[in-house]
Amino acid sequence: MDKNSALNDLAKEIVKNNVCADLAIGAEQLVMGSGSFDADIMLVGEAPGKKEDETGLPFVGSAGKFLDQMLSEAGMTRDQVYITNIVKYRPPDNRDPTMAEKAEFWPYLVRQIEIIQPRAILTLGRHSGKAFLPYLEISRDHGQPQLVTINNHDYTVVPLYHPAAALYNGSLRQTLIEDFIKTLNHVEDL
Ligand code: URA
Repeated sequence: MDKNSALNDLAKEIVKNNVCADLAIGAEQLVMGSGSFDADIMLVGEAPGKKEDETGLPFVGSAGKFLDQMLSEAGMTRDQVYITNIVKYRPPDNRDPTMAEKAEFWPYLVRQIEIIQPRAILTLGRHSGKAFLPYLEISRDHGQPQLVTINNHDYTVVPLYHPAAALYNGSLRQTLIEDFIKTLNHVEDL
């Protein structure tokens, strides 16, 4: 089965299995992910916001514009990476996703990773970072590649600050830009 069909089937399964039914009721749609199915780099954010819920695409609001800017500084576009979130329905009032919501979506995220088979997973923010690296301390570990074994498969995970947190904080913003560009420019070494 090709990757597109596998991802479509996975999305149908999420709906059929009523994953996070409470979130699904309040959301416009499932925001599965976007970009290249053969990407070396998979970016994993937290959960869709209002714009993402409206369009069905991840990271299309202000944090997404910042992401596009960083990709462009690294000489890339968003169709060269694959972008998704750990939680795939918008939480009401943009609240943080709960532990239970993250746990419910986790097996589907793992399967999405197994379909894409990226060379590196870049987590954006603590919600997705801690899902892969429970002992993550973002101020200590940001930008440092870590090896994570999931279902007997080793993945390189690079925890990064969330673009929305970095957007209006000058020093975080600079740190995120530097981590991001360094990671993208050295992905073949990861
Ligand atoms: N923030 C996220 O974590 N994900 C999105 O898709 C948009 C904003």
